[in-house]
Amino acid sequence: MIDTKRIRGDFPILARKENGQRLVYLDNAATSQKPRRVLDAIAHYYSEHNANVHRGAYALAVEATDAYEAARTAVSRFVNAWAREGVVFTRGTTEGINLVAGSWGRANVSRGDTVVVTAMDHHSNIVPWQILCQEKGATLRMVEITGDGRIDLADFGRALEAKPKLVAFPYVSNSLGTVNPAAQLTKLAHAAGAVTVVDGAQSSPHLRVDVRTIGCDFYAFSGHKMLAPMGSGALIAKPELLEAMPPYHGGGEMIERVWDDRSTWNKIPHKFEGGTPNVEAAVGLAVAIAYLEQLGLEHVAEHEQQLARVAVERLSQIEGITIYGPRDHRAGVVPFTYGDIHPHDLATILDRDGVCIRAGHHCTQPLMRRLGVAATARASFYIYNDVDDIESLVAAVRKAGELFRVLAS
Ligand code: PLP
Repeated sequence: MIDTKRIRGDFPILARKENGQRLVYLDNAATSQKPRRVLDAIAHYYSEHNANVHRGAYALAVEATDAYEAARTAVSRFVNAWAREGVVFTRGTTEGINLVAGSWGRANVSRGDTVVVTAMDHHSNIVPWQILCQEKGATLRMVEITGDGRIDLADFGRALEAKPKLVAFPYVSNSLGTVNPAAQLTKLAHAAGAVTVVDGAQSSPHLRVDVRTIGCDFYAFSGHKMLAPMGSGALIAKPELLEAMPPYHGGGEMIERVWDDRSTWNKIPHKFEGGTPNVEAAVGLAVAIAYLEQLGLEHVAEHEQQLARVAVERLSQIEGITIYGPRDHRAGVVPFTYGDIHPHDLATILDRDGVCIRAGHHCTQPLMRRLGVAATARASFYIYNDVDDIESLVAAVRKAGELFRVLAS
């Protein structure tokens, strides 16, 4: 079980008061807060071990390298990667997907090919493929969603008839909360001969993820949404794919030999980690992983799903509220609109009561068009949220509704 009271004590920022009230942080799909253990690990790294990695012959550099590479092992175990050499540190999901598009995509996608994404993808899993397809003269095919916010499997099947080179989809939607059947989608895509990319930005923080069980080829996630520092994350890939792929960024560390006119490449994963890496981010990510594993990802998922159920139930009792996304197979994300109150206005008013929610298109404009809205308000939960937070949200939403009724009359 998740003991939110104890957990809240681990997060210094949650002691902060907002307009004299308890901070109700419900924007976890955008980024999570960080526990003291992660903050301390960063300070400890800089106070005790900081040096540039992989190049030094002195003790500090060896310690920094050990810490960085230990973090790679932690990530590898966390997602059950095919090999620790298949873990490339990135700035986050966006960079991971751009790496696949820029390297695997440039090498393997040609004129006339098809790349498949879904209408619920985040811009990070759409725009890199648009850029690639435009450059190569390939077609980008967007799979439709059903009325209740799932990937339309019939349309997915139709998209696969084009024998796409690559299929990309989110494990969990940041705008709907839908948990997609990642293993099933991967199997179907593979049967059509495609390579698969899973956007794990919203799954790694909240679910036990096993990339081998999903069976995908690439899996990208961000550390900052799962208690780790900003600028942390990884791309998990099948090693044989990474071996065959050309480099993404050229520079130090990713080379073996450099001549005047050409170079040879370092072993994987270093071939994809040109330049000085963000060691502090990797160190913090390893500590965040340990924190989540101690809680148990199954408990984390159960806790958030329970909060989402309560939030859907309580918000549905307010007249004029529309909730988006499926009733079941939902992670801790609850998107909603409230009559004709603009979600931005709603979020601004809620802030006065110390309630932080996100409003906007959530980097999913194609999805918003399909939902027929310009924006939604979104409450998203994590391990330190509890039912009191939902009560604060509901009370603040009701108050905002009254305010707007007065203003309109
Ligand atoms: N994919 C999804 C589903 C997301 O929710 C996000 C961030 O909100 C991203 C990708 C991009 O993640 P990042 O900005 O950490 O690279």
